[in-house]
Amino acid sequence: MQHFDVLIVGAGHAGAQAGISLRQNGFAGSIAMIGDEPDPPYERPPLSKEYFKGEKSFERILIRPAAFWEERGITMLLGTCVESVDAGARIAVTASGETLLYGQLIWAAGGRPRRLACEGADLAGVHTVRTRADVDRMTGELPGVNRAVVIGGGYIGLEAAAALTSLAKQVVLLEALDRVLARVAGEALSRFYEGEHRAHGVDVRLGSTVDCIEGAGRVTGVRMKDGKVIPAEMVIVGIGIIPAVEPLIAAGAAGGNGVAVDAQCRTSLPDVFAIGDCALHSNRFADDMPIRLESVQNANDQATLVAKTIVGQDLTYEAVPWFWSNQYDLKLQTVGISSGHDATVVRGDPVTRSFSVVYLRAGRVIALDCVNAVKDYVQGRALVLGQVEADPVALADTTRPLKDLSGVERAQGVT
Ligand SMILES: Cc1cc2nc3c(=O)[nH]c(=O)nc-3n(C[C@H](O)[C@H](O)[C@H](O)COP(=O)(O)OP(=O)(O)OC[C@H]3O[C@@H](n4cnc5c(N)ncnc54)[C@H](O)[C@@H]3O)c2cc1C
Repeated sequence: MQHFDVLIVGAGHAGAQAGISLRQNGFAGSIAMIGDEPDPPYERPPLSKEYFKGEKSFERILIRPAAFWEERGITMLLGTCVESVDAGARIAVTASGETLLYGQLIWAAGGRPRRLACEGADLAGVHTVRTRADVDRMTGELPGVNRAVVIGGGYIGLEAAAALTSLAKQVVLLEALDRVLARVAGEALSRFYEGEHRAHGVDVRLGSTVDCIEGAGRVTGVRMKDGKVIPAEMVIVGIGIIPAVEPLIAAGAAGGNGVAVDAQCRTSLPDVFAIGDCALHSNRFADDMPIRLESVQNANDQATLVAKTIVGQDLTYEAVPWFWSNQYDLKLQTVGISSGHDATVVRGDPVTRSFSVVYLRAGRVIALDCVNAVKDYVQGRALVLGQVEADPVALADTTRPLKDLSGVERAQGVT
């Protein structure tokens, strides 16, 4: 039976960063990383952006060159799925029955795309966007595709719609709610992106409920609840993920929609940490509510925290959440968590395609969404970090840099 001082399950963003940070912080013990995909760790964001559009090769989206892991003494067990964990015996068992003994386990398994529950969901030509294999399958089919339906108006659906449009495909985007990005952004941002997609030729249909996917073997269309059929040679489903936590929950870890972790990313199982998309943690920037964050920032920062914890540092997870999304020539950067806001301020005119939305709760800045507005994003970070109380009129005034709206100024009664 092989033994590793640290066993990392999941060779994605969080798992890779955990390995990198352990070595950077002087950890000299043995490390293995198990990943069920065949490839070494790669960046997932380009899957709905540059890699999808063929603008970046796979080599260019690798998190580190393939040789890096061996050079750092990290054993890579790729194409290998962990099916069960026995936390008492400190073992993880793979799908092929191999048993691995660990000193500490870092669970960094991310999530699987949620699939449609309706008839036709498994037809050829119906895709999700989570892995390189998903995108390679999709791009292989694209030459035969003129019309595509994207189901889900979240970031992944919108990015896929933008990528397909840039590849000259006709796109219908279906969103069940009355606006896109409803789960993650305020109305002003939703309406802006809806307008941009329409202006680029995407047929955005809100309040649309899918009945089933039609086709014989291969998709031919999407039937809506009202009976209308939207013809399509390809369907992309972007309706969220299900955290990949079953083996840990079966082993007795607390959780449900993710594995519950404390401020050091420790699960309720001894010497088992969980990080990244699958980690359900209390976040200071979400009013200490338990949430899962699906972002590269969260994956990297939790991984670094756990690596430092393992080498003996005493830290807690306090990182400011940030995220980005690229659609057309629009670069959206977000900082903070906007859910729970009770007021918004639009800073700048969306018509100029460069503006920010500032989210407030009880008069304090909790988040910003910045569209082609890097300066606001950089300077707004401090407002979110300090949850600064700010005057909405001052926030809306683009002649006043956000850095001037500091807490000190407020205390002096300037705003
Ligand atoms: C298309 C797309 C676009 C995105 N765009 C952005 C963006 O613009 N900005 C941003 O901040 N974030 C973006 N994200 C989110 C970001 O990629 C994720 O938050 C990040 O990948 C999470 O890292 P992770 O390590 O937790 O999970 P993952 O990167 O998903 O890695 C988990 C790995 O574990 C493997 N695994 C699962 N179960 C097991 C098991 N039992 N045994 C072995 N291996 C297992 C999985 O197959 C996977 O390879 C995007 C995601 C997608 C899919």
